[in-house]
Amino acid sequence: MINSWDIGSVRGINLRVHWTFLLLPLWIFASAISSGTGLTSAFASVLFVFAIFGCVLLHELGHAFAAQQFGIGTRDITLLPIGGVAALERMPRVPLQELWIASAGPLVNVIIAMIIFSVQAITGPGSFATHQFFSQLMIANVILVLFNLIPAFPMDGGRILRSLLAFRIPYATATSIAARTGQICAVGFGLLGLFTGQLMMFLVAVFVYFAARAENRMVQYQDASSPPPRSSEPAQSSAPGFRWSRENKFRNDGGVPSSLSIQSVAAWLANQRRDHCQIVESGKVIGQVTRSQLTAAIYRGLGGVPVSRLLAA
Ligand SMILES: [Zn+2]
Repeated sequence: MINSWDIGSVRGINLRVHWTFLLLPLWIFASAISSGTGLTSAFASVLFVFAIFGCVLLHELGHAFAAQQFGIGTRDITLLPIGGVAALERMPRVPLQELWIASAGPLVNVIIAMIIFSVQAITGPGSFATHQFFSQLMIANVILVLFNLIPAFPMDGGRILRSLLAFRIPYATATSIAARTGQICAVGFGLLGLFTGQLMMFLVAVFVYFAARAENRMVQYQDASSPPPRSSEPAQSSAPGFRWSRENKFRNDGGVPSSLSIQSVAAWLANQRRDHCQIVESGKVIGQVTRSQLTAAIYRGLGGVPVSRLLAA
C-alpha cells in the first residue's frame, strides 16, 4: 500500500498508518480550538485520539497473535481513521480457529478496560483530568468491544457468528447467513445514521454492507471453483448438490441445461479439465460459455441466475 507509512514492526508484522489517519487528530484539534476550549484541552483531545488508536492497534495485534498460533501470518496492520485492519494471510475454515482469532481482538479491549478499572479502583481518583482521561478511555474500549461484536462482516461479530454457525452447517451456508445478517444490520445502522444526521455512522454502514457482500461472494466463488470432494471424503459445503447435478443433469457430451445456475455450472466445469461447455435447451445446443465468463459472472454476484443469461448478454 503506497498511501501508508511504516511506523515499526512487532513479531515480524509491519505496522502502518494510512495518510488519511492524520486527518483525524487535525480535525479533532481544529474543532476543539474552534469551540473555544483552549490549547491545553485541544492537545488533550488529540492525545485521547492517539490513546484510542493505541488500543485499536493492540486489538489488531490480538487477532494477529491468535492467528500466529495456527501458523497464519499477518502481512501488516494498517491504521485508518475508521479503525485498524489486520491483513491476515488467510482465514482458517476451521470454526474453532476462526472463533478464537475473531474473539482475540475484542478480548484485548476487555482486558484494557478491566486494567484501567482495577488501577483506578486501587489508586483512587487522583487528579481530575487524569481520572477523566482514563475513565473515558475505559468507556471507549467498552464501545470498541460492543461495536466489534455487531454480527456483521467485516466486524469480528460477523466472523464469530459464521464460526459458530459453521460448527453445525457448511461453511458457505454459514457465510451466507452471516453476510445476510450483517447486511440487515448495515441497513438498520445506515437508516439510523441518515435520520439522526450521523454521517460517520452512515458511511460505516455503507462500507459494512458492501464488505459483507464481498465476503459472501468470495466464499461462494471459492466453493464453486474448488473441485468437489471424492466420495470417500466427508461431504462438505456445496458438494451434495453438486453430486446430484452431475449424476442427473449433466450430459455425457458436455451439454449443460440452460436453466442451471451459473454457480453450479462453474462448479461442474472446475472438475472437467476444459475451459468451456455447451448450453442445451430442449435438446438443442444454443451456445457455449467459458470458464472465465462464469468466473466473471460470479464476481458480479450473478452466481444464482440461470446460465442462459450469459448467452443473452
Ligand atoms: Zn477486530
